[in-house]
Amino acid sequence: MEKVLIVDDSIVQAAQLKSILDDDYDVTAVHTAADGLSQASSGEYSLILLDVIMPDMDGFDLLKKLQEELITQHIPVILITGLAAIEHEQRGLTLGAVDYIVKPFHPLIVKARVDTHIKLYQYRKQIEAQSMTDQLTGVANRRRHDELSAAKWQEAIRLHVPFSICMFDIDKFKVYNDTFGHPAGDKVISAVAKTAAARLRRKTDFFARYGGEEFVAFMVGEEADKAFEHLRAIRQAVEDLHIPHNPEVSQWVTVSIGGVTAIPGTDSTYDTYLKVADTMLYDAKRFGRNQVVWADKGLKQLREK
Ligand code: GH3
Ligand code: MG
Ligand code: MG
Repeated sequence: MEKVLIVDDSIVQAAQLKSILDDDYDVTAVHTAADGLSQASSGEYSLILLDVIMPDMDGFDLLKKLQEELITQHIPVILITGLAAIEHEQRGLTLGAVDYIVKPFHPLIVKARVDTHIKLYQYRKQIEAQSMTDQLTGVANRRRHDELSAAKWQEAIRLHVPFSICMFDIDKFKVYNDTFGHPAGDKVISAVAKTAAARLRRKTDFFARYGGEEFVAFMVGEEADKAFEHLRAIRQAVEDLHIPHNPEVSQWVTVSIGGVTAIPGTDSTYDTYLKVADTMLYDAKRFGRNQVVWADKGLKQLREK
């Protein structure tokens, strides 16, 4: 059930609105703008019904604050008010409200407008999710990676925690396609993604398809030896899928992985270390494929073979 927040200093008005929506939504009512702001900051609401005239902070000011915060700025806000004058309505809509309902309102009209804006919000969320997901594998795509990596790097600088980045690449995949066909190749890409994603599920992990038969992952908070071990296990898990490769290449489909663990600082960027990971991947290929090559924070190489 979608969550709706009502912010109205009148307990009676709030209860009336709640009763209109209670059947179809999970409704919470609060009676001050401050409580409204803290509730909304949970990021759980799909719509806010906001009264304009309230003591302390009024609805326009709260709306401004909601629009400024990253976590609340996308939540649709409907203003509900006794201020019928056109300039108030214009002000509310200019500030970013999606709709404006003047009291006294008709319950069915409130319900219909809420339903419409909830539907639009769900649709937008769905489109946003799709735009960040790789269609073939269902894991995050490169756009999501580019967006999230920079933010997570900044967070790690603040928290002074190690940051591991790695690149995966399926071994001799051109030969696989040439031997078994492109649709079979697609299935392999999906299987590899599923296997790796299942082992990179913690809140501090991220895994994406970078493009073609390449993947990228990062992990926050893990030291180099632990990260190396973890990726070694993932590399092994892919081999253990026992997907037959062209026998002239190898018995099973395998991946090579290059990675690095850094202590993020303001003197370096995510992209610098992504390039290091790519260099390690190149070495993993050079050293014979189906292996992990890692660089620790002193750029000393860890190898499994
Ligand atoms: P290496 O071990 O050095 O990585 O050899 P490779 O053959 O895997 O490397 P190369 O980069 O030459 O080839 C990558 C191949 O991946 C070429 C391309 O046909 C295939 N490929 C890229 N994207 C897709 C895809 O979405 N589906 C399928 N089936 N194949 C893809
Ligand atoms: Mg490649
Ligand atoms: Mg390859």
